Amino acid sequence: NTKLNGQVAFINGGSRGIGAATARRLASEGAKVAIGYAASAIAAEALVEEIKAAGGEAIALKADAADAAALTKAIDSVAERFGRLDILVNSAGVLALGPVDQFSLEDFDRTVAINVRSVFVASQAAAKHMKDGGRIINIGSTNAQRMPFEGGAAYAMSKSALTGLVKGMARDLGARKITVNNVAPGPVDTDMNPADSDFATALHGLMALKRHGKAEEVAAMVAYLAGPEAAFVTGADLLIDGGFAA
Ligand code: NDP
Repeated sequence: NTKLNGQVAFINGGSRGIGAATARRLASEGAKVAIGYAASAIAAEALVEEIKAAGGEAIALKADAADAAALTKAIDSVAERFGRLDILVNSAGVLALGPVDQFSLEDFDRTVAINVRSVFVASQAAAKHMKDGGRIINIGSTNAQRMPFEGGAAYAMSKSALTGLVKGMARDLGARKITVNNVAPGPVDTDMNPADSDFATALHGLMALKRHGKAEEVAAMVAYLAGPEAAFVTGADLLIDGGFAA
């Protein structure tokens, strides 16, 4: 598969989970990938080596998504190093759960900083480098549409915010043929939401397909949006949730 040959992608939060699967997938389609991470340096470097061993090109960059200056600097450095930037994937995210009457302001602010503000910051930085036809793809959540358990108010809010953000950004960047979309997964088996947790069975009870999704399944939808066939898709939330919101 050579659909993304010659293109350069930055994955904000690419060291683990859905972001890591996306880095692998985009690299397998020919893109050069830059993996942004905050805490998981070892995982990020291991992923770089894995992609290189498979014949791809990859680098890892430490960039805390909550730090706007660091994130912007990382994106600028990717564009400088590879001479271009075509695809931005925002996968960095945190899940802080708790009832609204006990939820700390610190957790609220961290949720907003990483799940929302970093998407805005990274998009702004990346759009400066993108040529016509660039791609901005965020990992939203089915929880933007359905929040059927307690304790998820701040998380659901953060993912709903992305729904509005991509609609507005799609308008702003449409003249440049840059598309902006959310991929909105349901439960996906990662460190954030392991398929073998006690909570998993309850989640499956809410779904048409009673299983966790795989990070690779989400990465395939990201790859579709990144590719040339998706040039007419923008401002959208693409659900991939096993019928969680159905
Ligand atoms: P994981 O917990 O497996 O991975 C989270 C990733 O985000 C890691 O690579 C982590 O990097 C990165 N990250 C977290 N905080 C920061 C930060 N401050 N700066 C930079 N990177 C950061 O989660 P998932 O892969 O499951 O989640 C990815 C996205 O998908 C999130 O936005 C999440 O909300 C969303 N999502 C997940 C679902 C699920 O069921 N798993 C369902 C719906 C949406 P590091 O370790 O280096 O800090």
